[in-house]
Amino acid sequence: MTSSTYNPYENAQAQFDRVAEIIGLDYATRQLLRQPMKEYHFTIPVRMDDGSTRIFNGYRVKHNDARGPAKGGIRFHPEETADTVRALSMWMTWKCAVVDIPLGGGKGGVICDPRQLSEGEQERLCRGWVRQIAWDVGPVIDVPAPDVMTNAKHMLWMLDEFETIHGGRYPGFITGKPVEMGGSLGRTEATGYGVVYTIREALEGMGIDIQNTSASIQGCGNVAQYAAQLYQELGGHIVSIACWDHADQMAYSYANEEGLDARELPNITDRYGCIDKSKALDMGCKVQSCDAWIEQDVDILIPAAMENQINLANVDKISKKVKIIAEGANGPVNTQADKIIRNSGIFVIPDFLANAGGVTCSYFEQVQSNANYYWEKDEVLQKLDQKMTSAFRAVRDLAARGNLYTRDAAYVISINRVAHAAKMRGWV
Ligand code: GLU
Repeated sequence: MTSSTYNPYENAQAQFDRVAEIIGLDYATRQLLRQPMKEYHFTIPVRMDDGSTRIFNGYRVKHNDARGPAKGGIRFHPEETADTVRALSMWMTWKCAVVDIPLGGGKGGVICDPRQLSEGEQERLCRGWVRQIAWDVGPVIDVPAPDVMTNAKHMLWMLDEFETIHGGRYPGFITGKPVEMGGSLGRTEATGYGVVYTIREALEGMGIDIQNTSASIQGCGNVAQYAAQLYQELGGHIVSIACWDHADQMAYSYANEEGLDARELPNITDRYGCIDKSKALDMGCKVQSCDAWIEQDVDILIPAAMENQINLANVDKISKKVKIIAEGANGPVNTQADKIIRNSGIFVIPDFLANAGGVTCSYFEQVQSNANYYWEKDEVLQKLDQKMTSAFRAVRDLAARGNLYTRDAAYVISINRVAHAAKMRGWV
């Protein structure tokens, strides 16, 4: 599902440059914000179960911490590159700024396929990642979290290693921890729910009842599954879900005109978010090509998998019926496709706004961990809804007032906030 010529960092910089021009950002601030402040590239030796040693490549990139400690996930993926991590760290800065939480942007990763590693190998990899970076991350420096193919278990191994090195208990070092070990209730659901809060607001603004809408989703990981569940709970109909099939090593779309039951998704997916094709067939789904999700006659498209999924090869296949694209993934639309979508009349909820629910809840987790006082789930989700709703409304109102594309409006808000913080600090 990825293209080797696509470079997410160039995409992130092109988006930034466009808006820097619109708002007339000065040269020094542009130079500061269009690239990361710091990068760490390192090797991680891991003793494998068969007694051999494998060397993995790891990264941590701090894009900007003018507004607070850097914040962002760690991704385990075979196609991870330094430029992917750079782009994702940049999007984290804008994400934290658009929802107005006092954090900057960072991202980490390891080139690996955790599906091919045993539990023990994964644990040693997590601990090895922390050992290489333990003095350059931390609760007041840079706070990691889960991302693609990492989860609460990985976070706890990382926390344990960090605490062993630093000799104390630092639950604010990392977020996305297991709930019984300092995690926040609602963190697992937060990104997917946040996507749906923004969809709900967008539909309300258009005067459309969510119960009369249908959606097609790409991805079946944490973000996609919880987005599907809440969307369905609010009355929406899911007609197609596209997902990677681990056995066949390719992606398929699973469609059902009667509607797919989001509550069944956990039963047909593995813990890396891959759908088991035979179980999907048992559920009555039609198996279609990997791109079929994008061609559905639906009101809403939710790309919630990886970068560069909507590109020049498939953008023309989007149905005229589609009114909203809610970007659950980071960078799912590439620059060329975005030019076409921008002029199509489709209302785009850009990635760093749509999927900001995860980091917003991570911020709540940090607050709870640091205070050592934990909130009820309702309280977490209510605060999350408030943050997402007000961020969405600010972007929508600015887009309407300034006749701006929603992605540009979100960038205007974020870049101005970060530039202002850098100026107040006397950096530029
Ligand atoms: N990995 C998530 C994201 O891309 C969450 C980051 C966090 O919680 O720090 O937004």
